[in-house]
Amino acid sequence: MISREIPLTDTQCEAYLQSLLTDYEHDYGSKLKPSDITCSDCSERKACPFAYDMYNTHGDCLASK
Ligand SMILES: [Zn+2]
Repeated sequence: MISREIPLTDTQCEAYLQSLLTDYEHDYGSKLKPSDITCSDCSERKACPFAYDMYNTHGDCLASK
């Protein structure tokens, strides 16, 4: 994962979201919806280093593990 400056701006959040969706489709061959990303609406998403992690999907939040 690319290291990132924290906190993110809205524009950066959107860019990470899009690249995660693209990467996921590339790696798994299935599309991910923005709503499948656990933290896409999280209030901590701009500061959380895990918000746009590949594994942070389908209800799992790495920050809560
Ligand atoms: Zn989270």
